[in-house]
Amino acid sequence: MLSGSRMRENGVNKEVVRKLADAIQADRLIETAIRLIEVPSPTRSAADVSDRLDEILRGDGFSVERPVAGWPDAPAVVSKFASGKPGRILQYNGHLDTVHLPFVPPRIEGGMLYGSGCSDMKGGIAACVEAMRALRQTGLLTHGGVMLTAHDLHESPWGDGTHVNGLIDEGYVGDAVLLPEYLASPLPVIGRGMAVLTIKITREGQPVHEMLGGLEQPSVIRAGAEIVRRFAEVDQDLKQLNHPMAGRESLFVGRFEAGEIYNQSPIECNVAGTRRWLPGTALTDAEAQYHGILSDVAEQHSVRIEGGFHIARDAYRINPDDPFVSAFQSAHSAGTGEALPVGAKPFVDDGHEFVNRAGIPAITHGPDAKGAHTLNEEVAVSELVRVALVYALTAVAFCGGIQD
Ligand SMILES: [Zn+2]
Repeated sequence: MLSGSRMRENGVNKEVVRKLADAIQADRLIETAIRLIEVPSPTRSAADVSDRLDEILRGDGFSVERPVAGWPDAPAVVSKFASGKPGRILQYNGHLDTVHLPFVPPRIEGGMLYGSGCSDMKGGIAACVEAMRALRQTGLLTHGGVMLTAHDLHESPWGDGTHVNGLIDEGYVGDAVLLPEYLASPLPVIGRGMAVLTIKITREGQPVHEMLGGLEQPSVIRAGAEIVRRFAEVDQDLKQLNHPMAGRESLFVGRFEAGEIYNQSPIECNVAGTRRWLPGTALTDAEAQYHGILSDVAEQHSVRIEGGFHIARDAYRINPDDPFVSAFQSAHSAGTGEALPVGAKPFVDDGHEFVNRAGIPAITHGPDAKGAHTLNEEVAVSELVRVALVYALTAVAFCGGIQD
């Protein structure tokens, strides 16, 4: 737990909590969320919802920039709110795209918000906007400022993360960043990197009956099976590379597909899976090991193998003693009554990239929401209000805190 003096040093006390909590309006937050959710935005088609966020922010009197950031189809949305005094900049970053599933319109029922993207992550972006409104209204941000960045191209496999990379490369980077993905606990300080593996094994010629020459053909299925066996050996070794919070490294097969009929020799076999690794593991070594196995098997089985190694995000870690972590922790404690346990991020997100590419500490923290990547997304209104309060308090604690 943080001491009282540390909390005062960070500028977060009961009076600040009360004023910000009073300034945050649940109805206004939900209206913002609904206006974002009602504009469908599957990945690569976030132009209309980006325009909608632009309109909401301008309507509230906030300034808006629209950097292309490498994706002219849906320029990003950036809004800065400054105290006017020098200090740190806290960034709020979110994606406006949703997974490619049938559109579910927004709906409020029994204190719950439903609809496409309400959990992942338009509800979280609405909470960021509400935090900015509360900071402006209360005048409690005495130093530095807040910058909201929102973008497309997040959800894989349709997006590749390049829109947020473009924002980072164009300098839309604060001194630290909060990302409102659906993770309310723990406070993540480490996460594994992940690559998606897609392997296509083919042989020459046409599919042929087993008894009309098929038996003597190179077997794409045996080659695929050999790859699975070799991966299992590597995975066994990887068990030793284990982190108490983040878990172990792994080489996993989640899909194996080949053949049409029981007595026909096929010409193609597809295998897919993941490779996950910890901070400190050289990505190039992991990739070389993977390609080494594929070329061995291709030679042994006289087949052709194409192996995709698509890096989602590299592994990351942040210093648990970073002033940003203390600022966030004191904001969370003051706003909710309890500190969060420190732990690992179970999934890969853009926070990894802010640490590795932009060199700033990133904390993923958002609503305790359900149904991400399904048709049944749902989030409690009280959770979005809580996130808005914690985000506003973090700005007060971090931007107004003692500079290091
Ligand atoms: Zn998300």
